[in-house]
Amino acid sequence: MTKEDEIKERRKIKSVKKMKEIMTTYYIDAKTAEQTGKKVAWITSGGPVEPLIVMDVIPVYPENHGAMIGASKMGVDLCEKSEEMGYSSDLCSYARADIACAPLNGGPIGGLPKPDMLVCCNNICGTVLKWYEVQARYFNVPLFILDTPFCHTDYSKEAHAYVRKQIDEYITFLETACGRRFDYDRMIEVGRLSIEGQRLWQAVLDTTTNKPAPMSAFDAFFHLALIVTLRGTQTVVDYYTDLLAEMKARVAEGISAVDNETYRLLWDNLPVWFRTRWLSDKFASHNACLVADTYTSAWCGSMKYIDETDFLNTMAEGYSRIYLNIGVDQMATDVLKMIDKYAVDGVVMHSNRSCKPYSFGQYDIQKIIQKQRGVPVLMIEADMVDERSFAESQIETRIDAFMELLKGRFAGYAG
Ligand code: SF4
Repeated sequence: MTKEDEIKERRKIKSVKKMKEIMTTYYIDAKTAEQTGKKVAWITSGGPVEPLIVMDVIPVYPENHGAMIGASKMGVDLCEKSEEMGYSSDLCSYARADIACAPLNGGPIGGLPKPDMLVCCNNICGTVLKWYEVQARYFNVPLFILDTPFCHTDYSKEAHAYVRKQIDEYITFLETACGRRFDYDRMIEVGRLSIEGQRLWQAVLDTTTNKPAPMSAFDAFFHLALIVTLRGTQTVVDYYTDLLAEMKARVAEGISAVDNETYRLLWDNLPVWFRTRWLSDKFASHNACLVADTYTSAWCGSMKYIDETDFLNTMAEGYSRIYLNIGVDQMATDVLKMIDKYAVDGVVMHSNRSCKPYSFGQYDIQKIIQKQRGVPVLMIEADMVDERSFAESQIETRIDAFMELLKGRFAGYAG
């Protein structure tokens, strides 16, 4: 083994193997649910999964599947198929890919298991409402919609009463779909595990406050899958406990995600799934590490609103005040806090053609960042799944120019 290979081997995150095993088992369980007598619910990524865990229903995430489609570079084919079915190319590429996948059993795992029910929460966007209606009609299964009013600034008492009531309706919906009573005692335990998992995930992300960072946002994109899919289970708690220990050990041993980390950057918006490696290598070639991101933090950002001793009554607020359901000023405040916390030198914004709620306010947030912190911002126009919206040479030129700007600022400070 050469010295270079040794360094590469040392830098590999060991928990990756475990993560792959867990996700493989999870998808096998979901795909064989019919044989094992379990029910499957498709649920939106920001939806309250904990009541499903209580009812032993396997939650399946079309958006996680969308990420797999993107990473497998199967997005263009499926998006084009949905466009042939009559869906506009302006629609979210997760929705397009999923709608095309259903009749074809396409994608990297031969399609998702057929759902017994659908659970849609509009705290992430309005697209999911129509997307889930389409799939409810296609699979002829019941659909539950949890409507969370947009929280521009505050979360009112009226909004709370409205969402809280729907949580009860959600439980009644699950009791009807599963044909048995909801176990409120188990809900207490699942709520505790959910908060514990989120706390551990935040602690893992926080290890990148160390310089150099032991992992990058590109690693976080990969390790995120469990807090999204299996939140509320012991599996998540055990996995992130081990991952946190591994990250702490890397910090102690000085193992960094990027060689000679010199520049620390913050990523905003979803990953460009089909180009994570390319982008990671590109930034690393400039000794730049994307140490944090607004996307993976979103799965623990609203935990402060939830009381783990009263999960059922406080989850309404937690699920209403997530990153995509708050006003631009509040989003900017969150980004400024991250800039300070992770001591970043620049921000990379992915202006994502698919995800309008994530992308609309970015130019305002950019102005606020520049005014309040004087931190430079790079805007990259792309898409998370649809490769037709990725102009490689243009993006490469922009990254190079941005890094030159950062280097110039560093040289200026040094001089
Ligand atoms: S528009 Fe954005 S939030 Fe909505 S489903 Fe697509 S990626 Fe998710």
